[in-house]
Amino acid sequence: MQFPHLFSPVSINGMNLQNRIVMTAMHLGYTPEGTVTDRLIDFYVPRARSGVGLIIVGGCPIDEYAGMANMICLHEDRFLPGLERLTSAVHDAGGRIAAQLYQAGRYTHSAMIGGRQPFSASAVRSRLTGETPRALDLAEIPEVQEHFAEAAVRAGKAGFDAVEILGSAGYLISQFFSPLTNLREDRYGGSLENRMRFGVEVVEKLRRAVGPDYPIIMRLAGNDFMEGGNGNAEARAFAAALEKAGVDLFNVTGGWHETRVPQLTMHVPRAGYVYLAQGVKSAVGVPVLASNRINDPETAEEVLRSGGVDLVTMARGLLADPELPRKAREGKAHLIDHCIGCNQGCFDSIFSFRPATCLVNPQAGMEGQWRAEPAAQPKRVVVIGGGPAGMKCARTAAERGHEVILFEKADRLGGQLLLNRLIPGRGEMVTAARDLAAHLAELPVDVRLGQAADVAAVKEIRPDAVVIATGARPMKPPIPGIERPDVVQSWDLLDGRAGVGRRVVVIGGNAVGLETALYLASIGTLPPEVLHFLMANRAESVETLLNGIDRGIKEVVVVEMLKKAGKDIGQSTRWTVMAELKRLGVTVLTGAKAVAIGDGFVEIEKDGEAEQLQADSVVLAAGSRAERGLAAALEGLVPEIYVIGDASEPRKALDATREGFRTGLKL
Ligand code: SF4
Repeated sequence: MQFPHLFSPVSINGMNLQNRIVMTAMHLGYTPEGTVTDRLIDFYVPRARSGVGLIIVGGCPIDEYAGMANMICLHEDRFLPGLERLTSAVHDAGGRIAAQLYQAGRYTHSAMIGGRQPFSASAVRSRLTGETPRALDLAEIPEVQEHFAEAAVRAGKAGFDAVEILGSAGYLISQFFSPLTNLREDRYGGSLENRMRFGVEVVEKLRRAVGPDYPIIMRLAGNDFMEGGNGNAEARAFAAALEKAGVDLFNVTGGWHETRVPQLTMHVPRAGYVYLAQGVKSAVGVPVLASNRINDPETAEEVLRSGGVDLVTMARGLLADPELPRKAREGKAHLIDHCIGCNQGCFDSIFSFRPATCLVNPQAGMEGQWRAEPAAQPKRVVVIGGGPAGMKCARTAAERGHEVILFEKADRLGGQLLLNRLIPGRGEMVTAARDLAAHLAELPVDVRLGQAADVAAVKEIRPDAVVIATGARPMKPPIPGIERPDVVQSWDLLDGRAGVGRRVVVIGGNAVGLETALYLASIGTLPPEVLHFLMANRAESVETLLNGIDRGIKEVVVVEMLKKAGKDIGQSTRWTVMAELKRLGVTVLTGAKAVAIGDGFVEIEKDGEAEQLQADSVVLAAGSRAERGLAAALEGLVPEIYVIGDASEPRKALDATREGFRTGLKL
């Protein structure tokens, strides 16, 4: 067995799991009325069948004040029939399933609960909702705690194998636990013991309600990452008290939704928060789960082998590839479609009130409708362009039995995904390209690298269908001086084909412009291993080291015409990009227009005033234009022509892979 620790069984208070993989709860938006839908079942069943040890679903609101629309409701008996359907389906597929008990407290927006005011430990305004909750009366507290217990009993009735109490991320239990949000002066506030009391009593009540043999999991923050809030020591003390109250397993994650420390973005290192689980493990005797950015079996195996924890969670990793457990078990780990932490399809969709999907797996959430069935009539298909759209289309078409020839004019596959290689914290985008290429290598796809398809080449093949996935071309805005040799395209810079001087002005504050600025500003900063070496040897002062990672050798200014930069970056990631730019000393000028480029300067207009920015080099990130000339040239020469991805209209990689997949299904 290639991953012996990962695939060893484990028992949690009598619940036997076939392996150490836990799919932790994530909001999916597949239950618009709160009732289990076929869509939700169709999503979870393949994951159970593939061999996920335990699936945790939710959050599941425990009362009508709990939180959010579109959740899997558990607060009334009328939801039982749907929940039973879900648990039976997962059991029939060989899996185990738990329900996450959710009460968001001050993270609930009043609009989600019929305009009523949410409650919390104290009336402390929520940065997430912009609203101030009311403090729960002492007399109300037992009632709310009972709702947790009642929901747990209901979960048992519905066939769930366990429940998980959501005690992390800044939700109600965390709000009682934290001195930031708990200003009470009664027995639930003040000392650490008092602040722990609400959560401890929830577990005690729950244990009494479900009996000794029903597994209780607690999702806990190993550190809230909130200034003035709870840290590692408090988390350990809380875990010890919760274990005494009856918790069987701790699922340890990072900080609150309000923290400024990123938790889920691409630049969080893989398994970066395992140390938090290790901290909790040192304080308890029951098993502990490590969470956050564990998205491949190699990392998971290493965490279990040497990390001192007992299980690992993968949520987005299994959204991205439901077959991950099976592939790992069957020696096909090289064919896993890794979650790359982009959040484009999952969190960014959820934050915009759309159902979750996935950049690398467009089928996620559509398992019942979008199936890659064998083609009724195998065709000869030419795909032109080896970026994400073209590769995804070629792969899907080949998996369905079509004969596929893929042209890529560069000498490698990946298209624009490869431009992320040098950008700090964006390297996982290259993983998506690598994963697609790995599949194409296994399939009978004729990949022709270094060959730009033209009409003659296509005609010679006599295809039944041609898919134009030729991507886009960067635009050159009509600015005087744009043709100067010290003006380069960001794509050329990021591809290593161009260099720049010390003072750089980036024209365009879209995603590409900001990420280019991140790359430029990071040049000359201390690499991680050097930082580690210097820290470990106490070679430099902390101040010197911080300066070493915060300041590189370039001076970078971004000029953006709109009032807001990075508008095309998803909500979950944009704030982290802006924070990184600030940390690295990049100046971002919004509402500013570049009007001329000269020798050593860029002239801009901002607020009606002209200004000169010093610049040794200028980098253009002024958008791109679809490249689809071949489509018109082939019109009438082949029976079917499709134009997909950026060749249709420049957008995100999420759109490219979805169109590639859907076109692959259509063929
Ligand atoms: Fe992972 Fe991105 Fe897919 Fe979300 S959309 S599951 S972050 S690959």
